[in-house]
Amino acid sequence: MTAETTSIDTLIVGAGQAGIAMSEHLSRIGVPHLVLERDRIAERWRTARWDSLVANGPAWHDRFPGMEFDGLDPDAFAAKDQVADYFEAYARKYHAPIRTGVEVTRVTRHAGRAGFRVETTDGVIDAQRVVVATGPFQRPVIPPIAPDDATLTQMHSVAYRNPGQLPPGAVLVVGAGSSGVQIAEELMRAGRKVYLSVGAHDRPPRAYRNRDFCWWLGVLGEWDKEVAGPGREHVTIAVSGARGGQTVEFRALAHQGMTLVGVTQSIDGHVVTFADDLAANLTRGDQSLFTLLDAADAYIERNGVDLPEEPHARDIPADPECVTHPLLTLDLAEAGVSTIIWATGYAQDYAWLQVDAFDEKGKPRHQRGVSTEPGVYFLGLPWLSRRGSSFIWGVWHDAKHLADQIATQRKYLDYRDAAQRRAQCAQRDAAPAPAEPNLNELGVN
Ligand SMILES: Cc1cc2nc3c(=O)[nH]c(=O)nc-3n(C[C@H](O)[C@H](O)[C@H](O)COP(=O)(O)OP(=O)(O)OC[C@H]3O[C@@H](n4cnc5c(N)ncnc54)[C@H](O)[C@@H]3O)c2cc1C
Repeated sequence: MTAETTSIDTLIVGAGQAGIAMSEHLSRIGVPHLVLERDRIAERWRTARWDSLVANGPAWHDRFPGMEFDGLDPDAFAAKDQVADYFEAYARKYHAPIRTGVEVTRVTRHAGRAGFRVETTDGVIDAQRVVVATGPFQRPVIPPIAPDDATLTQMHSVAYRNPGQLPPGAVLVVGAGSSGVQIAEELMRAGRKVYLSVGAHDRPPRAYRNRDFCWWLGVLGEWDKEVAGPGREHVTIAVSGARGGQTVEFRALAHQGMTLVGVTQSIDGHVVTFADDLAANLTRGDQSLFTLLDAADAYIERNGVDLPEEPHARDIPADPECVTHPLLTLDLAEAGVSTIIWATGYAQDYAWLQVDAFDEKGKPRHQRGVSTEPGVYFLGLPWLSRRGSSFIWGVWHDAKHLADQIATQRKYLDYRDAAQRRAQCAQRDAAPAPAEPNLNELGVN
């Protein structure tokens, strides 16, 4: 596609992994499409993550089926820039028609005819369909309890890059999902005093009986689960591929000097109040780990798989002082805390998508990504169709489903009744016959 494109069958917004997967599947079935990306391909992997981030899953797993990571051990964890390079190379391999540096600013439905008016920073496009691939994690969320205190440095985890970026002093990290716990550990290793506020979480073993947890979630059907267990929808997962990949073990971090605290409830002046729920949160996290180990053992038993036993996988370090006698308040000034990092998640932002596709809370209304607004499709959202939907391997399968849905709709629209078919034939018959090719001009003797 070129910059002159003004009308297209399917427009994909966003060239992260979701947009690239969508493009691959549409190309496979011959649907003319265009991908618009406001920044660069896989920009969020390039610049919206901290410097030392590596993928949470090993290279054999966290990739698309059509290509392996070049030169990377399949069991290694790709660095964030390797992930971005991978998607760039993937887009090249499949000739994805991507235009970078073009933002979609407004999408509205045409009145009285099918399709959408797509306003961009580089003109207007007419699209029959729009696939929204703008990411599961768009707008960083900092809770309203964040203090209005100019003496403190505060940032969302999306803005964290490395320890050297922070002013000297201790750090409070709020949120202990994959981002929070990894950032907290990096800061502790860099010599900072760190307080980590730990809420409800799942804590899978990094590996068990010679298989990474990604493998276990796969064979146990967990990635394909369509709904989270009751009350588990918003439970974060504490997992890390850092330093070759290790199980996140909160108590071990505390034994190394990190102070764990419960959920951050309020901040009044310099004084932070934490819920008295740290021990309970850790215990629930342990239970999630034991549940996976039990399911893995049962799988091995049932299928007669030959994998070595790992009796120490259930060992949990003794409760450190901060768990047995939890801090319920912390005076930030007294504790020398200069920075708060809010690893508190993201929201979505669809201000530009002005169609009837959202519920009263602004959440997309869809079934497996097919919006209630005909012609609009969502891709890459958490739990779009299954647990794996917002992850690298999962989005590729969801994209395949959406491409299938688009093909089905196109087929219906291609239908012509008998009168229309006759008219088409008549038109063809009346058209002048194409000129005989001049064989000399074609260089044929
Ligand atoms: C810290 C972190 C670590 C992660 N690690 C892993 C991991 O190891 N493995 C894994 O499988 N998943 C991981 N994920 C989850 C997921 O894979 C990533 O969030 C991934 O970036 C999502 O890809 P996406 O294409 O859906 O969205 P994004 O990567 O967010 O891409 C969306 C694109 O849309 C563009 N865009 C947005 N709005 C517009 C607009 N209006 N016009 C034009 N372009 C627009 C953006 O610039 C962006 O490039 C991680 C997420 C985070 C936050």
